[in-house]
Amino acid sequence: MNVNIINLAYLLASVLFVLGIKGLTSPRTAVRGNAYSGLAMLIAVVATLVDRNILTFEYIIAGVAVGALIGAILAMKIKMTDMPQLVAVFNGFGGGASVLVAGAAYLEIMGALPGGVASKALSAAGIDPAHDYQMLIATAASGIIGSVTFFGSFIAYAKLQRLFLEGATAFPGQRIVNLLVAIVTVGLGVAMVLQPENVNLYWIMVAAAAVLGLLLTVAIGGADMPVVIALLNSYSGLAAAATGFVLQNNVLIIAGSLVGASGVILTKIMCKAMNRSLVNVLFGGALGPGESTVSSDDVYAGKVKATSGEEVAMIMDGARRVVIVPGYGMAVAQAQHAVRDLMNLLEARGTQVEFAIHPVAGRMPGHMNVLLAEAEVPYDKLREMDAINPEMNQVDVCIVLGANDVVNPLAKTDPSCPIAGMPIIDVDKAHTVVVIKRSLSPGFAMIPNPLFAADNALMYFEDAKKAIQEIAQAVKEL
Ligand code: NDP
Repeated sequence: MNVNIINLAYLLASVLFVLGIKGLTSPRTAVRGNAYSGLAMLIAVVATLVDRNILTFEYIIAGVAVGALIGAILAMKIKMTDMPQLVAVFNGFGGGASVLVAGAAYLEIMGALPGGVASKALSAAGIDPAHDYQMLIATAASGIIGSVTFFGSFIAYAKLQRLFLEGATAFPGQRIVNLLVAIVTVGLGVAMVLQPENVNLYWIMVAAAAVLGLLLTVAIGGADMPVVIALLNSYSGLAAAATGFVLQNNVLIIAGSLVGASGVILTKIMCKAMNRSLVNVLFGGALGPGESTVSSDDVYAGKVKATSGEEVAMIMDGARRVVIVPGYGMAVAQAQHAVRDLMNLLEARGTQVEFAIHPVAGRMPGHMNVLLAEAEVPYDKLREMDAINPEMNQVDVCIVLGANDVVNPLAKTDPSCPIAGMPIIDVDKAHTVVVIKRSLSPGFAMIPNPLFAADNALMYFEDAKKAIQEIAQAVKEL
């Protein structure tokens, strides 16, 4: 195929990737942004396959159809609450693909693959791949970052899915061990660049990076998990960009850099929102907080007051201002439509209703914004934590809907708990707080919440959607 047409296709794909990222910066344009990025990926994949004569058209069409079918089924079947796990798996596969593709290109160029076309072409052109340092360094970077991403992402998946290794699994001296493994991994990368004929070094380096990925992620838990997910996302982009340099493929370099850069920006935003140091997260969080010593018996014994839909409706009858704080439980119960209906009902009665959004509520960045946008709650009703906190003492009723960690005062008072130092929404400053959840079970950080026993707090033990519907019914009957 004409090289100009391929480059034009790559240019078009790159422009669409940039427009896609731009679209994703606002909920209003996010759907369009996603569509642009999907189209860009299709153009890039087809152009690459056609360019390299890797496959015939029949295979390309069949591959696109099978891939599209798997993607569509996954997208339709996956529950919104399982999205972070899916994203972790996607990041992991991105990293794994970089390891394999860069590794295969390197083996072929070094003549280690039977019938290696590239190595013969290079030697015919008088080029010695053993001195092509740009390619060799990019290969080492791809292998290391890709392997850390693959293994780190699957540990993150296991933690989010609560399969094993919940919370932070640290051991004494972990930071030193992590540092040593990192030095060994980079050392192996340098050795591979200096002795490229010894192709086994690549796979030994990948194995060392795998250990590093495992160690870095097992040590992270609690409030650091959102940050590590953003970080792994960024790594998967950097690994792809490095592979782009190995293959001399411009669209891969551009797309990888976009993912890498946007992931780093998101990581920085999350770190700031969570009051976390990036260095701490990068080195496995072992300097972070440990286990909380506060027991739920001490916190709750005899102090928790239960309420009902009728009582909540009566309390809200005289309220001028109501703030709803959604959390992971709203996503589980899919209560976003019911809560929008309650908002409309209360506003029709002259009550001001707003939503207070914590940056890590739910299980992925922007989780609550996505759900409330799906239910068509107007964007101007959404208030960020920093904006709403100073006004909390003017709020008559605060409804905490399936949120727990993001309103847990232990973050401020217990320096040894896993969310220590994380900013929270100060719901306890409202006149009355109604917490809707099914039981006194803890949230993601697995610690008790003194808010539930506060003097001004009432517990409504019910599924989030059912509770909101019952409150709405009781408001109508007032
Ligand atoms: P939490 O995980 O702290 O708490 C959610 C609460 O929802 C639980 O205590 C649970 O209580 C309740 N719940 C579950 N199902 C229902 C239901 N059907 N109806 C009503 N309540 C329900 O959620 P938050 O949003 O407050 O905090 C998010 C946590 O997740 C933070 O610790 C954050 O660090 C972490 N995290 C966030 C990520 C992100 O990017 N946003 C990524 C990874 C982790 P009960 O069982 O009693 O009903």
